[in-house]
Amino acid sequence: MADRMGPILPGSYLGILGGGQLGRMFTQAAQAMGYKVCVLDPGSDSPAGSIAEKFIQADYTDSAALKEMAALCAAVSTEFENVPAQALDDLESLGVFVAPRSSCVSLAQNRIAEKKFLATWKSETNIGPAPYFVIEHDADLAQAPADLFPGILKTARMGYDGKGQATVYSLEELTAAWNEFGRVPCVLEKRMDLDFEVSALVVRGHDDAVVAYPVSQNIHRDGILHTSTVPAPSLKPAQEKKIVDAAKALIRKIDYVGVLCVEFFVLKSGDIVANEIAPRPHNSGHYTMDACVSSQFEQQVRAMARLPLGDTRQLAPVSMLNLLGDLWFEGSEDKAREPAWNKVLAHPDAKLHLYGKSAPRIGRKMGHINCLGEALNEARQNCAAVATELGIEP
Ligand code: ADP
Ligand code: MG
Repeated sequence: MADRMGPILPGSYLGILGGGQLGRMFTQAAQAMGYKVCVLDPGSDSPAGSIAEKFIQADYTDSAALKEMAALCAAVSTEFENVPAQALDDLESLGVFVAPRSSCVSLAQNRIAEKKFLATWKSETNIGPAPYFVIEHDADLAQAPADLFPGILKTARMGYDGKGQATVYSLEELTAAWNEFGRVPCVLEKRMDLDFEVSALVVRGHDDAVVAYPVSQNIHRDGILHTSTVPAPSLKPAQEKKIVDAAKALIRKIDYVGVLCVEFFVLKSGDIVANEIAPRPHNSGHYTMDACVSSQFEQQVRAMARLPLGDTRQLAPVSMLNLLGDLWFEGSEDKAREPAWNKVLAHPDAKLHLYGKSAPRIGRKMGHINCLGEALNEARQNCAAVATELGIEP
């Protein structure tokens, strides 16, 4: 019988459900520490599967595949937010240490459960979600409070990068949008007057140790993260403390092991609203790979291997620039080009990360660049200069 409490040491296999870029960077961090990695993904070729020691191509609910994974790995985590809870439960019942566990992952998979949870959590942290109303049946539409307009209708499940969302100004538009989404369960959220957006990144070990990274300030374009800058230029120290304390309270409250990201809105009024949680390392935390003592992926390895957590200290100001597939095209997808990496790398403080995806597509996340600087302004200027080299509007 394997030791279910002690550390899982380098040389062992760690498992990851999902083979995307988050799985790939997890794999790289684990391998750097001497672990072997087993990736399970339904696709035939995946960014993580192509570099892992073991790649199982199977559906997340394939019980033979999960058994094979359990036989190899003492611990498993997920990089794919919509992994079926059953897969995590099956692995746990096969004796695998699953971090984070399925109840935590499920919470983030359903916006209705997530908003409800965030609303309860407000009593402890004074940070709650934007006002919202659940729409599950026809009759709910007319009951939607008038003060939620203009609002954003969001599908309860499977939304990411702004997908499954529609801004609605009236009951008529709400009805049309809900029909458009196929009348699936949704939340209608009041559209808030945002000043800026930030995210907190916290990590909890199996022993209840909790550490937090500096909060990042995020700019989205077309619903997709564009840049993350740390330290957050617009955030006041008191706001940062409130956000970090709230995220630390949250990770303990749900008994979560691993890396957790919490997105917040800072409103023009100065109030703070909790938007959503991501039960895994997050795009807005990629800055940690070059700017901090321990990256978010190293922390995920440490947490799931029941090792002490690493130092989250930031060593240099940073601005992360996301690289989308758009860069590989001249306007439309029929005119291909190769981005000017030589020009990017002429900036010695620009750290390039590409995910090894087989084909670029408009809007697809292909990589990111962490632009460092001795001072925050320098990091931001570096980021703007690198963006300009690539033809991205800074
Ligand atoms: P996703 O799962 O796609 O990241 P989010 O709920 O985070 O969904 O929404 C994506 C983006 O849309 C947010 O980062 C923010 O810019 C904007 N947004 C979402 N909800 C609101 C809101 N209630 N008020 C104003 N802007 C919002
Ligand atoms: Mg989001």
